[in-house]
Amino acid sequence: MLNISEIKNNLLKEREEIIFILESLEKEMKNIKERQEYEFSDTSESFEEKQDIHIKKEFLESRLNLINKALERINNNTFGLCLKCGKPIEEIRLKIDPTFEYCREHSN
Ligand SMILES: [Zn+2]
Repeated sequence: MLNISEIKNNLLKEREEIIFILESLEKEMKNIKERQEYEFSDTSESFEEKQDIHIKKEFLESRLNLINKALERINNNTFGLCLKCGKPIEEIRLKIDPTFEYCREHSN
């Protein structure tokens, strides 16, 4: 049996961590922009830094989105049901990642 309240707590914890990291990435991005304004330059190095932050941000934002949707399903009592066929998603899959939205048959 899946322990839904434990899953919920883990998701909430992960969400907090992601929000924290996203905030620090925002600050980092701001620092780079300020430094550029101060130096009147847009070096390739800072371009790469910004690119790097952007990629991390996109990854974290999509993860955050999946977590929010999983939390919503917990609140709606539809957690663990495949979005395509409505059948229960294999427990092993949900143990690996509770944000999975499809059963094995309908993943991909
Ligand atoms: Zn399915």
